Amino acid sequence: MLRSIWISNYSGCGKCTEGICFVNAIKLKDGKAEIRSESCLICGRCAEICENQAITILMAQDAVERSIKRVEKLVDIES
Ligand code: SF4
Repeated sequence: MLRSIWISNYSGCGKCTEGICFVNAIKLKDGKAEIRSESCLICGRCAEICENQAITILMAQDAVERSIKRVEKLVDIES
C-alpha cells in the first residue's frame, strides 16, 4: 500500500494545528508542524487548509477508500 504524508516549505503559521485534525495528529514543535504518522488518518484536511501547499499526501486508491471509511466513523458527514 502506498501511503505517505509529508511537510515541506512550512511557514510556521500553525493553521493546520488549530482544531483541523480529527485525531490531533499534527502539532507544532519548535515552530514546525509535525505529524504523528501512527495516528494520522490521511484525511487531507490539514493539506486542504494550507495556503502554502506545504503538506503533501500521496496514497493509493484502496488506501483512499479505507481512509474515507475511517473518517466517516469519526464524523457525521450528513449534517
Ligand atoms: S491528514 Fe488528517 S489526520 Fe492526518 S494530520 Fe492531517 S488532518 Fe490530521
